[in-house]
Amino acid sequence: MAHRNFKVVPNLLFGSGCISQLGDILNKLPNRNKGIVFIVDQSQKETSAKNLPIEKTDLLIFADTSNEPSTVYVDQLTEQVKAHFPALPACVIGMGGGASMDLGKSVSLMLTNDGGSAKYQGWDLIQNPAVYHIGIPTLSGSGAEVSRTAVLLGPEKKLGLNSDYTVFDQIILDPELISSVPKNQWFYTGMDCYIHCVESLDGKLNNEFSRSYGEKSLDLCKEVFVDNHPDKNEKLMIASYMGGMSIAYSQVGACHALSYGLSFVLHTPHGLGNCIAFDVLDDIYPEGVETFRGMVDHHKIDIPKGIAKSLTEEQMQVMVKTARALPPLWQNVYGDDWESVVTEDFVRGYYEKM
Ligand code: ZN
Repeated sequence: MAHRNFKVVPNLLFGSGCISQLGDILNKLPNRNKGIVFIVDQSQKETSAKNLPIEKTDLLIFADTSNEPSTVYVDQLTEQVKAHFPALPACVIGMGGGASMDLGKSVSLMLTNDGGSAKYQGWDLIQNPAVYHIGIPTLSGSGAEVSRTAVLLGPEKKLGLNSDYTVFDQIILDPELISSVPKNQWFYTGMDCYIHCVESLDGKLNNEFSRSYGEKSLDLCKEVFVDNHPDKNEKLMIASYMGGMSIAYSQVGACHALSYGLSFVLHTPHGLGNCIAFDVLDDIYPEGVETFRGMVDHHKIDIPKGIAKSLTEEQMQVMVKTARALPPLWQNVYGDDWESVVTEDFVRGYYEKM
């Protein structure tokens, strides 16, 4: 088996208040005067005004992340950027949760790759390097700051722009930026990280690299969500990074496959979809689900129930199809022979419990 030559984020800035160094980082870009695109989650309108070193030539876009990022939205933002800049901008920044960071990655890729983003949903379809791009999380857990994908809802599927070019050139991890996240969102996105660790550690593709990151990330998640540690923002921010590193060199599993189906059909946000799916996976991840339920109770979080009842037969079929269209995820759970286990009825059985 050939081993993967793993692309990592080359520049990482971490520490309380480190967002103040963004201006210096941008000024060091050789073509800073060509302008910067700031794609910022709309929830960050106030914080961004005081934190971001925006100059006249730059373009600030407040991203609508009330829905999962779509190929249509990415193409629309890319056109907006192209219309604003006569040449390519110097840098694209994605600031917010996983959705905003993935929008930043996607636009930086689509500025140099023609034909619309739906064409590139898949693995290693991107032809040209992206515009320099920086990720700044204001919500931690998705691991989007380290991943080589930008997950998009397309006309036919929910699938990422997976490529080495997708990886950020720089990330800025400032724990102060995640201190004011609404509780439910904090929990759902944090659980995305926790579930990355469980799926990676329990998976067949696990190895010493992903295990080392996954184990430490899982410990940090427990300090955040079980022990309520006073340094929980720092800890969650690093847990997200390490959980992302863990799955980058292994794979996620059954929960993510089912969650993708929920997002594709019902537009359920990723973290919430994971929580809904994980809650019915006792037989695949028994220990992980038990600890998860403890954290749900401890923080008095509602996990929506009764979803299957409101589905039409057609929606159910699309959901099942979407979840089964992710072979690497199921391989990580059941090995190469996954198709003999993961039948349509098998997948449907889990959706019916949600
Ligand atoms: Zn995830």
